Amino acid sequence: MTFWQSQTIKEPLAKNSLRTAEAFNMSLQSCFNKPNDSLWEVLHWHPSPSQLEQFVTLQKLLNQFNEQVNLTRLLKKDDYWVGQIIDSLWPLKNELNSPEKVLNCIDVGTGCGFPGLAVAISLPKAQLTLVDSTRKKTSILKTISTELGLNSRINILTQRIEATGHNLTYRGKFDLAMARAVADAPVTAEYLIPLIKPSGKAFLFKGRWNQIDEKELLKALAPLKAKINRVQRFELPLNRGTRHLICLEARSPCPTTYPRPIGIPNKRPLGFQEVDNLF
Ligand code: SAM
Repeated sequence: MTFWQSQTIKEPLAKNSLRTAEAFNMSLQSCFNKPNDSLWEVLHWHPSPSQLEQFVTLQKLLNQFNEQVNLTRLLKKDDYWVGQIIDSLWPLKNELNSPEKVLNCIDVGTGCGFPGLAVAISLPKAQLTLVDSTRKKTSILKTISTELGLNSRINILTQRIEATGHNLTYRGKFDLAMARAVADAPVTAEYLIPLIKPSGKAFLFKGRWNQIDEKELLKALAPLKAKINRVQRFELPLNRGTRHLICLEARSPCPTTYPRPIGIPNKRPLGFQEVDNLF
């Protein structure tokens, strides 16, 4: 029995409790309502009917799995549509409007599939590699990508990204490497830069961003031979907060010493003087 079926109250009920049950089922249904059409205006893009169905199916499946494994709290109504879907897609406005472009993308520390699954649904020609070190999450993602009919375009890896970054199948192979809520910017840069092609971009999805953050990131980018391409600010609809995209690109090939061994990027972020001397 699926999550939403299990929530449907089927027992014979007295009149009052029947009304309560109907109200409960109605409110449950509204958790999975498609959003108002105007929501998509911020992206200058609109999903096709089948993409919209896939987003709704994804929401239902994630709610179902969330009963067993604590994945995320952003799965109901606008929390899902704004906090997960729009938040995943706004940095890709350009790509959304060139849907025929073939892109090889990787989502690092994908968790329950954001931004990667939202991108896979929205860009029909994109190949997605979703990486996470937690097997519980990647097993769920495998089931979900099959249910969504996306498994021919989605490759799911259970591993630490420090290892992926040295695997020649993945190193330097991506048009777009992205990460949301995985680590601080200097650490995330060390995870992403080794994965991009010479012409590729790395997208760091950030909430707050200021000059100190930028200064620290620049110090980490020097040894990675990378630079900031642009910083973009965005207000999520319905007052859900300010977001920043930090788009990075390579200046020259990333030295093969990066990423450093598992755990080191996080323990000793690049760019911190005393830390570099220790390594
Ligand atoms: N990106 C998702 C999102 O925004 O909802 C998940 C964010 S969650 C806070 C961070 C995820 O990154 C976790 O699932 C964790 O297992 C994964 N992670 C952290 N460091 C990692 C590493 N070095 N290699 C692979 N996965 C990592």
